[in-house]
Amino acid sequence: MLILGIESTAHTLGIGIVEKDSGMQILANARDVYKPKHGWGIHPSEAAEHHRTVAKEVLEKALSESDVSFDNIDAIAYSAGPGLPPCLKAGLEFAQQLSNKCSKLLLPVNHCIGHIEIGKLLSGARDPVTLYVSGGNTQVIAYAAKHYRVFGETQDISIGNAIDTFIRETDGSYPGGPVMENLAKQGKNYIELPYVVKGMDLSFSGIMTSALQRFKKGAALDDLCFSFQETCYAMLTEVTERALAHTGKEEVLLTGGVAASQRLNEMLGMMCNERGAKFYGCPKEFSGDNGAMIAVAGMLAFASDQKGIKAEEADFKQRWRTNEADVAWLN
Ligand code: AMP
Ligand code: MG
Repeated sequence: MLILGIESTAHTLGIGIVEKDSGMQILANARDVYKPKHGWGIHPSEAAEHHRTVAKEVLEKALSESDVSFDNIDAIAYSAGPGLPPCLKAGLEFAQQLSNKCSKLLLPVNHCIGHIEIGKLLSGARDPVTLYVSGGNTQVIAYAAKHYRVFGETQDISIGNAIDTFIRETDGSYPGGPVMENLAKQGKNYIELPYVVKGMDLSFSGIMTSALQRFKKGAALDDLCFSFQETCYAMLTEVTERALAHTGKEEVLLTGGVAASQRLNEMLGMMCNERGAKFYGCPKEFSGDNGAMIAVAGMLAFASDQKGIKAEEADFKQRWRTNEADVAWLN
Protein backbone atom coordinates (compact mmCIF):
# COMPACT_ATOMS: atom_id res chain seq x y z
CA MET A 1 0.00 0.00 0.00
CA LEU A 2 1.43 3.39 -1.01
CA ILE A 3 0.14 6.82 -0.02
CA LEU A 4 1.45 10.16 -1.23
CA GLY A 5 0.96 13.14 1.11
CA ILE A 6 0.91 16.85 0.27
CA GLU A 7 1.58 19.56 2.89
CA SER A 8 0.87 23.21 2.03
CA THR A 9 -0.74 24.91 5.06
CA ALA A 10 1.88 27.67 5.54
CA HIS A 11 5.48 28.16 4.35
CA THR A 12 6.27 24.57 3.31
CA LEU A 13 5.27 22.74 0.18
CA GLY A 14 6.12 19.18 1.16
CA ILE A 15 5.47 15.85 -0.53
CA GLY A 16 6.05 12.55 1.23
CA ILE A 17 5.47 8.93 0.30
CA VAL A 18 4.81 6.12 2.76
CA GLU A 19 4.42 2.40 2.29
CA LYS A 20 2.60 -0.02 4.53
CA ASP A 21 3.11 -3.63 3.74
CA SER A 22 4.87 -4.82 6.81
CA GLY A 23 4.90 -1.84 9.18
CA MET A 24 4.90 1.75 8.05
CA GLN A 25 7.91 3.06 6.14
CA ILE A 26 8.66 6.60 5.03
CA LEU A 27 10.07 6.34 1.51
CA ALA A 28 10.34 10.04 0.67
CA ASN A 29 10.04 13.44 2.33
CA ALA A 30 10.75 16.17 -0.22
CA ARG A 31 10.06 19.85 0.36
CA ASP A 32 10.62 23.41 -0.73
CA VAL A 33 10.16 26.20 1.79
CA TYR A 34 8.84 29.64 0.84
CA LYS A 35 10.96 32.64 1.79
CA PRO A 36 9.35 36.09 1.68
CA LYS A 37 10.63 38.35 -1.10
CA HIS A 38 10.61 41.39 1.20
CA GLY A 39 10.78 41.56 4.96
CA TRP A 40 9.67 38.79 7.31
CA GLY A 41 6.68 36.64 7.96
CA ILE A 42 4.39 34.89 5.53
CA HIS A 43 2.56 36.77 2.80
CA PRO A 44 -0.18 34.18 2.19
CA SER A 45 -0.75 34.82 -1.51
CA GLU A 46 2.99 34.95 -2.20
CA ALA A 47 3.44 31.65 -0.31
CA ALA A 48 0.59 30.08 -2.31
CA GLU A 49 2.25 31.22 -5.52
CA HIS A 50 5.47 29.62 -4.34
CA HIS A 51 3.65 26.34 -3.65
CA ARG A 52 2.11 26.33 -7.14
CA THR A 53 5.47 27.03 -8.75
CA VAL A 54 7.45 24.30 -6.98
CA ALA A 55 4.80 21.56 -6.59
CA LYS A 56 5.73 19.58 -9.70
CA GLU A 57 9.42 19.72 -8.96
CA VAL A 58 8.90 18.58 -5.34
CA LEU A 59 6.69 15.73 -6.58
CA GLU A 60 9.42 14.58 -8.94
CA LYS A 61 11.95 14.77 -6.12
CA ALA A 62 9.72 12.64 -3.88
CA LEU A 63 9.14 10.05 -6.59
CA SER A 64 12.82 9.73 -7.39
CA GLU A 65 13.76 9.61 -3.66
CA SER A 66 11.32 6.76 -3.11
CA ASP A 67 11.94 4.99 -6.39
CA VAL A 68 8.20 4.57 -6.71
CA SER A 69 6.21 5.02 -9.90
CA PHE A 70 3.28 7.41 -9.56
CA ASP A 71 0.97 4.75 -11.03
CA ASN A 72 1.56 2.55 -7.99
CA ILE A 73 0.31 5.15 -5.50
CA ASP A 74 -2.99 4.01 -3.97
CA ALA A 75 -4.38 7.38 -2.84
CA ILE A 76 -3.34 11.01 -2.34
CA ALA A 77 -3.54 12.59 1.11
CA TYR A 78 -3.49 16.38 1.40
CA SER A 79 -3.38 18.80 4.30
CA ALA A 80 -6.95 20.16 4.42
CA GLY A 81 -6.51 22.54 7.40
CA PRO A 82 -6.03 24.37 9.63
CA GLY A 83 -3.89 26.84 7.75
CA LEU A 84 -3.72 29.89 5.54
CA PRO A 85 -6.53 29.75 2.95
CA PRO A 86 -4.46 30.67 -0.16
CA CYS A 87 -1.85 28.05 0.80
CA LEU A 88 -4.48 25.40 1.55
CA LYS A 89 -6.12 26.16 -1.80
CA ALA A 90 -2.84 25.73 -3.67
CA GLY A 91 -2.29 22.31 -2.05
CA LEU A 92 -5.88 21.22 -2.65
CA GLU A 93 -5.76 22.22 -6.31
CA PHE A 94 -2.50 20.36 -6.86
CA ALA A 95 -4.01 17.26 -5.20
CA GLN A 96 -7.11 17.60 -7.40
CA GLN A 97 -5.02 17.89 -10.56
CA LEU A 98 -3.13 14.70 -9.68
CA SER A 99 -6.35 12.95 -8.77
CA ASN A 100 -8.06 13.89 -12.04
CA LYS A 101 -5.06 12.94 -14.11
CA CYS A 102 -4.69 9.47 -12.67
CA SER A 103 -8.13 8.75 -11.14
CA LYS A 104 -6.85 8.34 -7.60
CA LEU A 105 -8.97 9.20 -4.57
CA LEU A 106 -8.10 11.98 -2.12
CA LEU A 107 -7.73 11.75 1.67
CA PRO A 108 -8.18 15.06 3.55
CA VAL A 109 -5.82 15.14 6.54
CA ASN A 110 -5.88 17.42 9.58
CA HIS A 111 -2.45 19.10 9.76
CA CYS A 112 -2.14 18.86 13.56
CA ILE A 113 -3.00 15.15 13.50
CA GLY A 114 -0.33 14.65 10.85
CA HIS A 115 2.23 16.08 13.30
CA ILE A 116 1.02 13.75 16.08
CA GLU A 117 0.90 10.56 14.01
CA ILE A 118 4.36 10.91 12.49
CA GLY A 119 5.71 11.73 15.97
CA LYS A 120 4.12 8.57 17.37
CA LEU A 121 5.38 6.48 14.47
CA LEU A 122 8.98 7.62 14.80
CA SER A 123 9.17 7.62 18.59
CA GLY A 124 7.13 4.55 19.42
CA ALA A 125 4.87 6.58 21.73
CA ARG A 126 1.46 4.89 21.82
CA ASP A 127 -0.95 7.22 23.53
CA PRO A 128 0.86 10.44 24.43
CA VAL A 129 -0.09 13.90 25.54
CA THR A 130 1.30 15.87 22.59
CA LEU A 131 2.73 19.35 22.92
CA TYR A 132 2.55 20.81 19.42
CA VAL A 133 4.52 24.05 19.23
CA SER A 134 5.19 25.80 15.93
CA GLY A 135 5.14 29.12 14.12
CA GLY A 136 1.36 28.96 13.78
CA ASN A 137 0.15 26.70 16.59
CA THR A 138 0.52 26.01 20.31
CA GLN A 139 -1.67 23.17 21.53
CA VAL A 140 -1.64 20.41 24.13
CA ILE A 141 -3.50 17.50 22.57
CA ALA A 142 -4.47 14.03 23.74
CA TYR A 143 -6.77 11.27 22.54
CA ALA A 144 -9.96 10.89 24.58
CA ALA A 145 -13.47 9.64 23.78
CA LYS A 146 -12.95 8.92 20.07
CA HIS A 147 -11.13 12.13 19.13
CA TYR A 148 -7.87 13.96 19.56
CA ARG A 149 -8.87 16.71 21.95
CA VAL A 150 -7.22 20.01 22.71
CA PHE A 151 -6.61 20.20 26.46
CA GLY A 152 -4.84 23.53 26.39
CA GLU A 153 -3.77 26.12 23.85
CA THR A 154 -2.66 29.67 23.35
CA GLN A 155 -5.30 32.34 23.60
CA ASP A 156 -3.41 34.69 21.31
CA ILE A 157 -0.19 34.16 19.35
CA SER A 158 1.79 30.93 19.10
CA ILE A 159 5.06 30.44 20.99
CA GLY A 160 6.97 30.34 17.67
CA ASN A 161 5.42 33.62 16.57
CA ALA A 162 6.27 35.24 19.94
CA ILE A 163 9.91 34.13 19.64
CA ASP A 164 10.19 35.17 15.98
CA THR A 165 8.68 38.61 16.58
CA PHE A 166 10.87 39.30 19.60
CA ILE A 167 14.07 38.31 17.78
CA ARG A 168 13.07 40.15 14.61
CA GLU A 169 12.51 43.37 16.58
CA THR A 170 15.70 43.10 18.63
CA ASP A 171 18.28 41.21 16.61
CA GLY A 172 16.82 41.68 13.13
CA SER A 173 17.07 38.01 12.19
CA TYR A 174 14.60 35.28 11.24
CA PRO A 175 13.65 32.61 12.22
CA GLY A 176 14.08 33.55 15.83
CA GLY A 177 14.20 30.14 17.55
CA PRO A 178 17.82 29.16 16.92
CA VAL A 179 19.05 32.74 17.51
CA MET A 180 17.19 32.96 20.82
CA GLU A 181 18.53 29.58 21.86
CA ASN A 182 22.15 30.65 21.27
CA LEU A 183 21.77 34.04 22.94
CA ALA A 184 20.01 32.45 25.92
CA LYS A 185 23.07 30.28 26.60
CA GLN A 186 25.05 33.46 27.34
CA GLY A 187 22.32 34.98 29.53
CA LYS A 188 23.00 34.94 33.26
CA ASN A 189 20.40 37.16 34.88
CA TYR A 190 16.77 36.21 35.13
CA ILE A 191 14.51 39.13 34.28
CA GLU A 192 10.97 38.66 35.48
CA LEU A 193 8.41 38.52 32.65
CA PRO A 194 4.65 37.91 32.89
CA TYR A 195 3.91 34.21 33.44
CA VAL A 196 0.48 33.72 31.88
CA VAL A 197 -1.28 30.40 32.40
CA LYS A 198 -5.07 30.59 32.71
CA GLY A 199 -6.45 27.19 33.63
CA MET A 200 -5.14 25.05 30.80
CA ASP A 201 -4.61 27.93 28.38
CA LEU A 202 -1.59 30.08 27.70
CA SER A 203 -0.83 33.55 26.41
CA PHE A 204 2.40 34.76 24.85
CA SER A 205 1.66 38.23 23.51
CA GLY A 206 2.03 39.98 26.90
CA ILE A 207 5.41 38.34 27.50
CA MET A 208 6.60 39.41 24.09
CA THR A 209 5.52 43.01 24.58
CA SER A 210 7.01 43.14 28.05
CA ALA A 211 10.34 41.69 26.85
CA LEU A 212 10.44 44.25 24.04
CA GLN A 213 9.83 47.07 26.52
CA ARG A 214 12.64 45.79 28.74
CA PHE A 215 14.94 45.69 25.73
CA LYS A 216 14.12 49.29 24.82
CA LYS A 217 14.94 50.29 28.41
CA GLY A 218 18.39 48.75 28.06
CA ALA A 219 18.12 45.18 29.36
CA ALA A 220 20.75 42.86 27.83
CA LEU A 221 19.44 40.77 24.94
CA ASP A 222 21.07 37.54 26.13
CA ASP A 223 19.48 37.92 29.58
CA LEU A 224 16.12 38.62 27.97
CA CYS A 225 16.40 35.56 25.69
CA PHE A 226 17.31 33.39 28.68
CA SER A 227 14.35 34.75 30.67
CA PHE A 228 11.96 34.54 27.72
CA GLN A 229 12.78 30.85 27.23
CA GLU A 230 12.66 30.00 30.93
CA THR A 231 9.28 31.68 31.36
CA CYS A 232 7.54 30.39 28.21
CA TYR A 233 8.90 26.86 28.41
CA ALA A 234 7.99 26.62 32.10
CA MET A 235 4.42 27.63 31.17
CA LEU A 236 4.28 24.99 28.42
CA THR A 237 5.70 22.36 30.77
CA GLU A 238 3.17 23.23 33.48
CA VAL A 239 0.19 22.85 31.15
CA THR A 240 1.57 19.63 29.67
CA GLU A 241 2.02 18.22 33.16
CA ARG A 242 -1.54 19.15 34.07
CA ALA A 243 -2.80 17.41 30.92
CA LEU A 244 -0.91 14.27 31.98
CA ALA A 245 -2.60 14.44 35.38
CA HIS A 246 -6.07 15.02 33.87
CA THR A 247 -5.86 12.24 31.33
CA GLY A 248 -3.85 9.73 33.34
CA LYS A 249 -1.56 9.21 30.35
CA GLU A 250 2.06 8.24 30.79
CA GLU A 251 3.79 9.59 27.69
CA VAL A 252 4.60 13.06 26.35
CA LEU A 253 5.39 13.76 22.70
CA LEU A 254 6.93 17.07 21.65
CA THR A 255 6.55 18.19 18.04
CA GLY A 256 6.34 21.24 15.74
CA GLY A 257 9.22 23.55 14.73
CA VAL A 258 9.84 24.74 18.31
CA ALA A 259 10.49 21.10 19.26
CA ALA A 260 14.03 21.81 18.01
CA SER A 261 14.61 23.72 21.25
CA GLN A 262 17.10 21.94 23.47
CA ARG A 263 15.90 23.75 26.57
CA LEU A 264 12.23 22.83 26.02
CA ASN A 265 13.22 19.18 25.52
CA GLU A 266 15.23 19.34 28.73
CA MET A 267 12.41 20.85 30.82
CA LEU A 268 9.77 18.42 29.56
CA GLY A 269 12.20 15.53 30.04
CA MET A 270 12.78 16.54 33.65
CA MET A 271 9.07 16.91 34.35
CA CYS A 272 8.36 13.46 32.87
CA ASN A 273 11.19 11.95 34.84
CA GLU A 274 9.79 13.29 38.08
CA ARG A 275 6.34 11.89 37.29
CA GLY A 276 7.54 8.54 36.00
CA ALA A 277 6.25 9.36 32.50
CA LYS A 278 8.11 8.80 29.24
CA PHE A 279 9.23 11.72 27.13
CA TYR A 280 9.60 11.56 23.35
CA GLY A 281 10.93 14.21 21.00
CA CYS A 282 10.70 14.21 17.21
CA PRO A 283 13.63 14.45 14.74
CA LYS A 284 13.89 17.91 13.20
CA GLU A 285 13.19 16.76 9.65
CA PHE A 286 9.81 15.45 10.76
CA SER A 287 8.84 17.91 13.52
CA GLY A 288 8.56 20.91 11.19
CA ASP A 289 5.86 20.91 8.51
CA ASN A 290 6.47 18.10 6.02
CA GLY A 291 4.70 15.94 3.46
CA ALA A 292 5.55 12.60 5.08
CA MET A 293 3.38 13.41 8.11
CA ILE A 294 0.37 13.96 5.84
CA ALA A 295 1.11 10.68 4.07
CA VAL A 296 1.37 8.85 7.42
CA ALA A 297 -1.99 10.16 8.70
CA GLY A 298 -3.50 9.49 5.24
CA MET A 299 -2.20 5.93 5.35
CA LEU A 300 -3.74 5.33 8.78
CA ALA A 301 -7.10 6.50 7.45
CA PHE A 302 -6.76 4.50 4.22
CA ALA A 303 -5.72 1.31 6.02
CA SER A 304 -8.71 1.65 8.34
CA ASP A 305 -11.10 1.55 5.40
CA GLN A 306 -11.49 5.21 4.49
CA LYS A 307 -10.91 4.82 0.80
CA GLY A 308 -10.99 8.54 0.04
CA ILE A 309 -13.15 11.03 -1.83
CA LYS A 310 -13.35 12.21 -5.42
CA ALA A 311 -11.50 15.34 -6.49
CA GLU A 312 -14.70 17.35 -6.93
CA GLU A 313 -15.82 16.56 -3.37
CA ALA A 314 -12.54 17.65 -1.82
CA ASP A 315 -12.26 20.94 0.05
CA PHE A 316 -10.25 22.68 2.79
CA LYS A 317 -11.20 24.12 6.19
CA GLN A 318 -9.19 27.10 7.37
CA ARG A 319 -10.06 26.51 11.04
CA TRP A 320 -10.39 22.75 11.12
CA ARG A 321 -10.26 21.96 14.83
CA THR A 322 -8.25 18.92 15.89
CA ASN A 323 -11.23 17.44 17.78
CA GLU A 324 -13.49 17.63 14.70
CA ALA A 325 -11.35 15.26 12.67
CA ASP A 326 -12.35 11.63 12.34
CA VAL A 327 -9.66 9.27 13.63
CA ALA A 328 -11.18 5.95 12.60
CA TRP A 329 -7.85 4.13 13.03
CA LEU A 330 -7.95 4.74 16.77
CA ASN A 331 -11.57 3.80 17.37
P1 AMP B 1 7.03 25.41 12.03
O1 AMP B 1 5.93 26.44 11.97
O2 AMP B 1 6.57 24.10 12.61
O3 AMP B 1 7.79 25.25 10.75
O4 AMP B 1 8.09 25.96 13.07
C1 AMP B 1 8.76 27.16 12.89
C2 AMP B 1 9.04 27.78 14.24
O5 AMP B 1 9.99 27.00 14.96
C3 AMP B 1 9.62 29.19 14.13
O6 AMP B 1 8.86 30.03 14.97
C4 AMP B 1 11.04 29.02 14.65
O7 AMP B 1 11.57 30.18 15.26
C5 AMP B 1 10.89 27.89 15.63
N1 AMP B 1 12.16 27.24 15.97
C6 AMP B 1 13.04 26.65 15.14
N2 AMP B 1 14.13 26.23 15.83
C7 AMP B 1 13.93 26.55 17.14
C8 AMP B 1 14.69 26.41 18.35
N3 AMP B 1 15.88 25.85 18.37
N4 AMP B 1 14.14 26.90 19.49
C9 AMP B 1 12.91 27.46 19.50
N5 AMP B 1 12.18 27.64 18.41
C10 AMP B 1 12.66 27.19 17.23
MG1 MG C 1 2.79 22.65 11.58
